[in-house]
Amino acid sequence: MQCHVKASNGTSVALSGMHSVDSSIVMSIESNTPDEPETIVVIGNGMVGLRFCERLVEYDLNRRYRIVTFCEEPRAAYDRVGLTSFFAHRDAEKLMLARREWYERVGIKLHLGDRACTIDRDCKTVVSSRGVEIAYDRIVMATGSYPLVPPIPGIRKKGVFVYRTIEDLQHIIQYAEHSKACAVIGGGLLGLEAAKAAFDLDLETHVIEFASRLMPRQVDDAGSETLVRKIEELGVHVHLSSGVQEVYGDRKVERIKFTTGESIDCEMIIVSAGIRPRDELAQECGLALGEHGGIQVNDRLQTSDSDIFAIGECTFHNGMIYGLMAPGWEMAEIMAANLCGDDRRFGGTDVSRKLKLMGVDVASFGDYETSDETVCSTVFSDPVAGTYRRLVFSKGGNHLVGGILIGDAADYGTLLSYVRSQEALPCSAGDLTAGSAGGATAVGTDMLPDSGQVCSSSNFSGTVPQHGEVSRGNRISARR
Ligand SMILES: Cc1cc2nc3c(=O)[nH]c(=O)nc-3n(C[C@H](O)[C@H](O)[C@H](O)COP(=O)(O)OP(=O)(O)OC[C@H]3O[C@@H](n4cnc5c(N)ncnc54)[C@H](O)[C@@H]3O)c2cc1C
Repeated sequence: MQCHVKASNGTSVALSGMHSVDSSIVMSIESNTPDEPETIVVIGNGMVGLRFCERLVEYDLNRRYRIVTFCEEPRAAYDRVGLTSFFAHRDAEKLMLARREWYERVGIKLHLGDRACTIDRDCKTVVSSRGVEIAYDRIVMATGSYPLVPPIPGIRKKGVFVYRTIEDLQHIIQYAEHSKACAVIGGGLLGLEAAKAAFDLDLETHVIEFASRLMPRQVDDAGSETLVRKIEELGVHVHLSSGVQEVYGDRKVERIKFTTGESIDCEMIIVSAGIRPRDELAQECGLALGEHGGIQVNDRLQTSDSDIFAIGECTFHNGMIYGLMAPGWEMAEIMAANLCGDDRRFGGTDVSRKLKLMGVDVASFGDYETSDETVCSTVFSDPVAGTYRRLVFSKGGNHLVGGILIGDAADYGTLLSYVRSQEALPCSAGDLTAGSAGGATAVGTDMLPDSGQVCSSSNFSGTVPQHGEVSRGNRISARR
């Protein structure tokens, strides 16, 4: 077997047999001396991979580590959460999270447009698609997810797009110039964001959702009705309880037929039917995966190989695959701190969030789905104003457990802090249900419990701190 050992400059040298190795090289490839930094290879330079690099640079005061990162995309980490803003400014630079000079200044070796394609765990090397070979001490996998395209007959045609990268958006913009109508498959969070983008590109827009409601994982039936009404008022067509049976057209999309028998003419399809963790590299090198994919990690974010860790959307932790920023950033923070001597665990993150979808505020927080006999819920709905507010309380109404807000989410921060503090409410359940929109007792920061914080890293709507900035919300969530 050919093996590789690390040279002092961090690159690796092939050893096919000791007689073939230059002795001067052997001298320089001895194992790490106490002063020599360990090499951490970060695979994936998305929002979580970059966050890990930033934190490790910040915490590693003794310069114990040297970071090498592989970035498959043609540009370094950018604000994927704010991707949709690209339609308005069309300037990829505006989305960049850290400049090339920053990587150079802090000594991170960034391999741009280069995919890590093999991990040799016996020789402890990573080899990339461009043939770069790095000897590692530890690996941090931050490979994210890919959009799932269901195997619908006819789906592999020109005019079908996904919505994940700047390049995807550039292709959508180009194709839209010669199109009239677009069908978005999937009425979840990303589907609605894609639909808004298609609508803004002056396309007749259809959202097709298999479930009987929009955002099936975040809102209930009544909340979805309010959302559908608001979205249809804008002029977007919503088709619920509809699957796509077949895509028709001569090499390019011309028409789609639903499982309901209905069909529509359209030249474009944006598929937003969920994401799957990028675990192929982990699988190839024999790391344990979750039942439905995802790189299995323990609370220290360690995979089945104690020198390989995984963070962000590619992980499977305690039965969960997270498709959100906040858990990924928390993992990045914990990972970096632990490498610098801390002993922190990732215990899961709550997936509360507040978003603006097609101009409509949508928020869900805490345990909003629970319906067992230990809770009771109240609903305040105003069809004229287009607002819906469902709050879930403990049986006696003294504690807030979770909730859904549609149309007006001004009270989100405060309500979330009530849930997190687990303290008795400072007002009645009725007052809280009517909230600021209902004209009853407005929920304000003066009513916060002592331990309350009106900030959450889940409470962001597309802006991510630029490199070097750390918002209070992020710090609090990371230490939670
Ligand atoms: C349009 C849009 C809107 C969103 N809005 C929100 C929101 O409002 N709130 C929220 O919480 N989340 C949102 N998300 C989700 C959020 O963007 C993700 O949770 C986050 O980007 C995950 O970060 P990550 O670094 O784990 O993965 P990614 O961002 O996917 O980054 C992984 C990177 O690794 C690269 N890679 C994979 N394999 C390799 C390899 N072998 N070698 C080298 N590189 C590799 C990939 O190409 C990619 O660049 C949104 C996502 C999208 C697409």
